[in-house]
Amino acid sequence: MDILDDIDPIEEFEEYCNQARYDLVVLQDEAKDRKLVTLEEIESGSEIVYDYPLYEVSGSCNDALFAKILEIVGGEGEADKATMYWGAFHCLVQEQFTDGKRPPCNCGLGASHQLQEQIQILHPETCDREITQKVAELLNIDLEVIDFYHELFGAWVGNAFDSSGPDEEYCGAIYFLPSMINHSCRPNCCWSLSEDNSFILRARREINDFEELTISYLPEKIIKRCTEERQNFLYDTKGFTCYCDRCEEPDCVRTIRCNACDDFLKPVSQDLWQCQCGNEWTEDEIEKKEIFVQEEDATSIEEMLGPLHYLTEESWTEKNVTNLQKRLYFLKTHQLYNSGEVAEVLEALGDLQVDATKEWYNPENAAQCFDEAAELSGHLFGTDSEVHQVNRRKMKLALKDHADNQKQKELKPLNLELPMNGRDEDGKKREHSTKKFRKRQDDQKKNMKEKFAAGS
Ligand SMILES: [Zn+2]
Ligand SMILES: [Zn+2]
Ligand SMILES: [Zn+2]
Repeated sequence: MDILDDIDPIEEFEEYCNQARYDLVVLQDEAKDRKLVTLEEIESGSEIVYDYPLYEVSGSCNDALFAKILEIVGGEGEADKATMYWGAFHCLVQEQFTDGKRPPCNCGLGASHQLQEQIQILHPETCDREITQKVAELLNIDLEVIDFYHELFGAWVGNAFDSSGPDEEYCGAIYFLPSMINHSCRPNCCWSLSEDNSFILRARREINDFEELTISYLPEKIIKRCTEERQNFLYDTKGFTCYCDRCEEPDCVRTIRCNACDDFLKPVSQDLWQCQCGNEWTEDEIEKKEIFVQEEDATSIEEMLGPLHYLTEESWTEKNVTNLQKRLYFLKTHQLYNSGEVAEVLEALGDLQVDATKEWYNPENAAQCFDEAAELSGHLFGTDSEVHQVNRRKMKLALKDHADNQKQKELKPLNLELPMNGRDEDGKKREHSTKKFRKRQDDQKKNMKEKFAAGS
């Protein structure tokens, strides 16, 4: 399999690909679709790309100019769009404003022609030009530059990553190489941002040579949903229809309890569900049942759809041990296990079990959960990531808690001489072992007597 024969690598990316830790190449087919491909095998958990932002902006409503853009694009709900216009504005150079007058902003940062060229190479999203016209007027952009400004805006929309921290309001950053990474609903890579907003790409699983590198463009809540909902979301927010492996397969996040036996009907093709008993349902029937469950009878949702249906998974809202364990099972079964969400669920499961006031208190199990969460987050986000280190710390505390409990248990038998009023589990055990001990002593005495008698 040599894909390099059919598709040309794009030269502009060569330099960037050389900076990566693996031998990567950006390919472009006739439809101008680009993809990032690895030429060598990549081990699971490896860091593949570490890339500084080409440009990053932070828009705050304290900045009068940003506030005005936000107003033009439609207020708070359209903050993302305003941030993209804000980013494109910062990529313009002095002479592209009418009479060379760039309206002042708080950061005062500018751009270079080289940066503009790099951003132009990125795939632009087609956007509504009318609003651009209004924003351009506000920003005093030269009439002849408006089309170019719209192009830059499109590149931001198509390629920017949301880098908003908890404090700053609206931040976006645009990267060169990461802009070439396509979406998959079952991605082989995951990305995170470092403290300095650098883009870090890691392998979620082992990746073969000549395999395309993919990430998910979906929020974690959506990636768990059915194919139709994932595709609609991607179309609405990113303007494309996904045809990844997972989208082409039978939709396994939709199962229904069989009406002929106790098992569940599972999809065997795009429009046929089957049970091991031979029962069959069509897509239409399944859809009707799902609508019925959502509208009529949400309480027995798990009973009707089973623990592997995405609607059931969404019904486990209460954070208790049972629900969290069911959630892990759902994610594991649907090959969504190597994700940040799993680390979160494991951590929550650990947190519950270190609470000594609750009936599910079990620091030993908690330590295991934290350990697994630390392992997974180290794999996905690196061992220097906050989430990895927090879980390592929590694991140590839980282990100490467990060890202290063990020590107390070991201390108890020393009190054997004291009168035992306790009728707890341990008390019974001790009483029992004391009896055993006495019996052994009695037996020994008996044996000695017998020996003595026999020898004499
Ligand atoms: Zn600024
Ligand atoms: Zn897909
Ligand atoms: Zn059946």
